[in-house]
Amino acid sequence: MRPIHSFRVNENLPNALATLRDVALNLRWSWDKETQNLFRWIEPDLWEQLDQNALRLLERCPRDRLEDLSGDPRFLEYLTKVKTDLDIYLRSDSWFQAKGVSPLKKVAYFSPEFGITHALPQYSGGLGVLAGDHLKSASSLGLPIVGVGLFYKQGYFRQGITPRGHQLERYPSLDPSTLALVPAVSEPIKVELGEEELDVMVWRARLGRVSLLLLDTDCEHNSPEHRSITDRLYGGDGEHRLRQEIILGMGGVRALFAVGEDPQVFHTNEGHAGFMGLERIRSYMLHEGLTFDEAVEATKSSTLFTTHTPVPAGIDRYSIPLIERYFSRWARDCDTSIERLASMGHTPTEDLDASFNMAVMGLHLSAAANGVARLHGEVSRSLFRGVWPALELEQIPITHVTNGVHPGTWVSGEMSELLSKSITPNWSNASKEEWSRVSNVPSKSLWQVRDLKREEMVTEIRKRLSLALTKSGWEDANLAWCETVLDPHVLTIGFARRFAPYKRADLLLTRFEKLMELCNDLERPVQFVFAGKAHPADDPGKEIVRRIFEVSFDSPAQSKFVFVPDYDMSLAKVLYQGCDIWLNTPVRPMEASGTSGMKAALNGSLNLSILDGWWAECYDGVNGWAIAAAPAEFSDEERERIECDSLYSLLENEVIPAFYERNSDGVPEALISRIKASLTSLGPFVTGQRMVREYTQRLYEPIAERHEQLVADKYSKLKELARWKTTVAQKWQDVHVVSVENVGAVNVDKEHSSDSITSYKIVVEVEVGEVDPQDVAVEVIWGPVTSDGTFRSNEHKRAKAVLGTDASSTLCRYEADLEADSPGTYGFVASVYPSSSDLSIPLELGLQILA
Ligand SMILES: *Cc1c(COP(=O)(O)O)cnc(C)c1O
Repeated sequence: MRPIHSFRVNENLPNALATLRDVALNLRWSWDKETQNLFRWIEPDLWEQLDQNALRLLERCPRDRLEDLSGDPRFLEYLTKVKTDLDIYLRSDSWFQAKGVSPLKKVAYFSPEFGITHALPQYSGGLGVLAGDHLKSASSLGLPIVGVGLFYKQGYFRQGITPRGHQLERYPSLDPSTLALVPAVSEPIKVELGEEELDVMVWRARLGRVSLLLLDTDCEHNSPEHRSITDRLYGGDGEHRLRQEIILGMGGVRALFAVGEDPQVFHTNEGHAGFMGLERIRSYMLHEGLTFDEAVEATKSSTLFTTHTPVPAGIDRYSIPLIERYFSRWARDCDTSIERLASMGHTPTEDLDASFNMAVMGLHLSAAANGVARLHGEVSRSLFRGVWPALELEQIPITHVTNGVHPGTWVSGEMSELLSKSITPNWSNASKEEWSRVSNVPSKSLWQVRDLKREEMVTEIRKRLSLALTKSGWEDANLAWCETVLDPHVLTIGFARRFAPYKRADLLLTRFEKLMELCNDLERPVQFVFAGKAHPADDPGKEIVRRIFEVSFDSPAQSKFVFVPDYDMSLAKVLYQGCDIWLNTPVRPMEASGTSGMKAALNGSLNLSILDGWWAECYDGVNGWAIAAAPAEFSDEERERIECDSLYSLLENEVIPAFYERNSDGVPEALISRIKASLTSLGPFVTGQRMVREYTQRLYEPIAERHEQLVADKYSKLKELARWKTTVAQKWQDVHVVSVENVGAVNVDKEHSSDSITSYKIVVEVEVGEVDPQDVAVEVIWGPVTSDGTFRSNEHKRAKAVLGTDASSTLCRYEADLEADSPGTYGFVASVYPSSSDLSIPLELGLQILA
């Protein structure tokens, strides 16, 4: 029998310890080492046993122990110090305040998952952990931001493993009150789901200076069906996912308003939260009296869309009948049609019944869009080219901001201390110049940290392995094996990530004999640590888990090849800090960015990776190793063979010798010099602080500034822009280019120079029809061409309108002078497009004639 109602008795702390609760309720403890020491002091064994979870510790700690501590002056003094530090952190100014006046008041950051700490398990992998690192880095920079996500009662699954290597999935239920979540509203808010309305609870987590709001449908008055909407992360079918996304996007906007937030910039971490745009359109219409087109403009001009996957299958799509079922009411409220809504999720050439694509809607409803690494920006421009059929590939308006990681979360105390001493105490915000001081770190001290963290990792892995296998129901006889795995002095290579097939955890197994030979080498052995979950519905991924596990439990290398179940942020930390080499073998270019290698690098581990994701732009020849990627045209098998060969040859010829060749102090100098090169070059780049500064300066602030201008004066510019866009778009079909002509060369003598260069006058005649000639921009794109007829490089030259004699004529003449200063063949093309200074980018309308 299950109770229907519940109430809660909170832990009752002795008065002198009341502030402990405040400290525990700000999740800054999850990355602040001094605060962790405070909780460890309370009851060290229990702290470890409860997996370093401050709130559960307070709940479970025996009352006598708390009474003792409340009379211990040393503890009270330390508690006061930690609490004072927290208060100072919360109040003091940081980078954002020091930067001077900013147009940016507040960013809302939407994401379907947030990886803040293992103690708040609301993430499945990279996307969520990145979102957590974004918020934490923003907190350290003092950026005004608020996170919006869902509270999943069962989080993501916990992974176990059977003796035959089959993945077990457990879904323990979570209780918000033991997770540092407090109610953000006194009553649940109302959110519409199709024609129905339901209650949604809003929880608040505090992460340093930043709040994270989590929406939860498990409310008393909801039907059981509605209560289970936010049950699990990435569980259920398409419709279940759609419902979650409606709660996240539409509910998220309402939650922000309900708690009194009024953000200027809405940032969506991947398309899953895209419905926030629809709720905002409705809200602008209902509350501000805007028309549909104006409301779209207002929403778009304040939205940033970040895409995270180069894999089309990774994008949510919904059938139009499903969209109709859930959004008819919205369309009525907005006085628009399902066809108009469908067009937002379609490329211009798609049929009405093509599935509704959340990423395409994200692109349509944002002022700017970005990928998460340089290569991924490129790949995204190809992938989403169809959204702008009139634009050339390089004109597709998707930029990139390369991901970064939150150093406080990922870097070990020992490494952090070393960096504090040698770089600057505030090393996570250090400049390139400051990072170059890494070369002065005594090699021996660096190596001691590496040795220590490897040893600690081995101990921790044995413990976790045995715990996980016990939970999976293994017999004691088999558990003995756990104590024999890994050797703390052997070169250790780590691989931990989602077991999606394209990540190819099993690439090494392609040459099994070689693998066994390397692991069992008597002089210079290598050992491997694997971890990662396969999505419960991903059978090929689970098969890879099984194969890896099989080698680990049953092969000649069984003690040097280990799979550790239940990869989460706490295990991740141990691996990044302890492994010597961080291996990554995705099929290029399917890894959007990847971030685990960044975390490893900051701990002095070296990357050995395919040149994909972030590594493609950061590898410089000495800061790690690049596995050769075979051309994409090759078959899968051929790619695997080439890349696997490259991997083994790097291991044998470079990595293993670098680790085992020692100087008289026992220090591997070659390895250490690479580690220093890695820290120097990557340190200033891979931090979340660099990432958030880039988002702020390149995207949030310009978006905020333009949006403010558009909405000022009761939306006057915005209304004008919306009207202008509609008119120009309607009349554009009559615009055409009549002629493009090179009317000849003129030699121009350059002032103060004996050289003369040749100038060419290009004349473009455009029939503008009913479009105002002022609204037409003509650019000549020109430059030297290669023998295959493409531009070697090109520049854009704006052509000037030349007034004709007949003012009533709609035939307009534009001229541009091109100055070619070196011999060779040049090419040019005229680009004609509608132009207004109020657009977010010149080609925002996606209309262009090339001639
Ligand atoms: C960093 C991290 C990831 C993402 O790492 P990738 O390199 O993108 O695979 C996934 N899971 C956890 C727990 C992490 O800490």
